[in-house]
Amino acid sequence: MSALDSMEETLQVYKETAILYLDGVKKLVNAKCEGLEPWQIIALTVLATVLAVWLYNVIFQPESLSARIKKVFFKLLRKLPYIGTQIQLKLNNAVDDMASRFFMLKDGMSYITSLPEKGLSKSEVLQKLTEYSSLAEDHWEQGRVSGTVYSGEEDLTKLLVEVYGDFAWSNPLHSDIFPGVRKMEAEIVRMTCTLFHGGPNSCGTVTSGGTESILMACKAYRDLAYDRGISYPEILAPVSAHAAFDKAAHYFGMKMVHIPLNAETMEVDVKAMKRAITRNTAMLVCSAPQFPHGIIDPVVEVAKLAVKCNIPFHVDACLGGFLIVFMEKAGFSLPPFDFRVKGVTSISADTHKYGYAPKGSSVVLYSDKKYRHYQFFVAPDWQGGIYASPAIAGSRAGGIIAACWATMMYKGEDGYVQATKKVVSTMKFIESRLRKINGIFVFGQPQVSVVAIGSKVFDVFRLSNAMNDKGWKLNILQFPSSIHICLTLLHTKPGVAEQFVKDVEASVAEIMKNPKAKTTGLGAIYGMAQTIPDRSMVSEISRGFLDYLYSTDIPAADKTHTNGLMDHH
Ligand SMILES: *Cc1c(COP(=O)(O)O)cnc(C)c1O
Repeated sequence: MSALDSMEETLQVYKETAILYLDGVKKLVNAKCEGLEPWQIIALTVLATVLAVWLYNVIFQPESLSARIKKVFFKLLRKLPYIGTQIQLKLNNAVDDMASRFFMLKDGMSYITSLPEKGLSKSEVLQKLTEYSSLAEDHWEQGRVSGTVYSGEEDLTKLLVEVYGDFAWSNPLHSDIFPGVRKMEAEIVRMTCTLFHGGPNSCGTVTSGGTESILMACKAYRDLAYDRGISYPEILAPVSAHAAFDKAAHYFGMKMVHIPLNAETMEVDVKAMKRAITRNTAMLVCSAPQFPHGIIDPVVEVAKLAVKCNIPFHVDACLGGFLIVFMEKAGFSLPPFDFRVKGVTSISADTHKYGYAPKGSSVVLYSDKKYRHYQFFVAPDWQGGIYASPAIAGSRAGGIIAACWATMMYKGEDGYVQATKKVVSTMKFIESRLRKINGIFVFGQPQVSVVAIGSKVFDVFRLSNAMNDKGWKLNILQFPSSIHICLTLLHTKPGVAEQFVKDVEASVAEIMKNPKAKTTGLGAIYGMAQTIPDRSMVSEISRGFLDYLYSTDIPAADKTHTNGLMDHH
């Protein structure tokens, strides 16, 4: 018997079995429907279909079912007659208290709420401006603030003012009118591609900042996922990844899946990431390094997952991108993190952080133009003409792009390598000294510019209070409670790092005299905010805070009141 014959016979057996099986199902259904009238059968079918669709919609939403149930529960709680109003009162007090703490005007100052009837003279405008600069009390120039200002060098400031002036009216949206700005933007992207070892097909765009760079990568991968038939694209990002990924998920209708960290190293748990991959996964994320503890995620291992499952992989190097690319030349070794790693499809790097350009610029890079195409937006039918734009903004400030380009040219490779040497060695100095202090610990093995501090003995927010009293503005982190300092060029000036360590030593020594004492002040607020089970309350307080950013009737110093939830005296 030929192979063909035996195959045909096998097929025949399959066919007969299938017919037998179908016959059984038919009989069963018929038996079930016996005694039902045709309209009943139709009605039941329709009902079952509607129910199935409804159930599907209830279960499969970007937000998890348990999170939604919790939200409904707290919403009901807030509606209860007495409790509801009490909670609202406390919330309002909390927001008012925060506003008066942060946004107090000085005596005699008031808000402008309408245009001056007659325009001011140049000297009057400049005169008025001094009032606004006098509002600041924290002097970042002295290197007392974590992150925030990355360069601040005077010679660079002077250059930037000149460059901005030359391009103040330019707008890359009109590339025909401002060809110079177009050339600069293309060169910023190409220089950055070269730094991250992009291949000949690598590309990217300049954006307004890290958040926009991240938004754009997520948007590109969402649309790629749609193309691949995924209706509910998911972002798999470490819990330590920047909140801009949550923002992207929120803006673009994606689901955010937070991947836990290895509690020892603070690197993302690669096994957990692997388990979280589904057919809906639109992208994987690592940070190099992440913001909270300054740790670089295991890019190489995650890249293997990305290749195996054919999923795009974004490396967020917004914070430290312009440090890590120079670390090898500065004498510090790192595991590979850029396009040399097969599987890395995009990278974000902020020129306005360690690129030392003024705020308002960042770069998002792709390993291949096919990804960037998903980022672009085109409205072919607009009455105003065929409208094509690379990123979120329409018109953009050409002056900022010129300033970014000028900074990169002015610094050059040697400038960046020198700066990297300074920042990383300052980090290492601070890290090694902090590890010697009894009562605190350093999270993981920081390698770049951030050192995060925790304590197993006392509430570490007491340390942030104490440092605050000594003039240091550190970042406060949660889940777990910790504080960090992000070191910039301002901290590399003589004596600054030494003073920082001394102040931590003195503060911890003081706290250790009574490690269990109650936390007060801002530290207490942050501590409490972590324990509120109803996260919508935290959101509401935060929204109220944002409202105050735009308030022009916050009382002046003499009329302030403090009361309620946030009272810490
Ligand atoms: C700063 C930062 C970003 C982006 O922040 P922007 O304020 O929008 O520039 C993204 N990721 C990390 C790790 C960052 O530190």
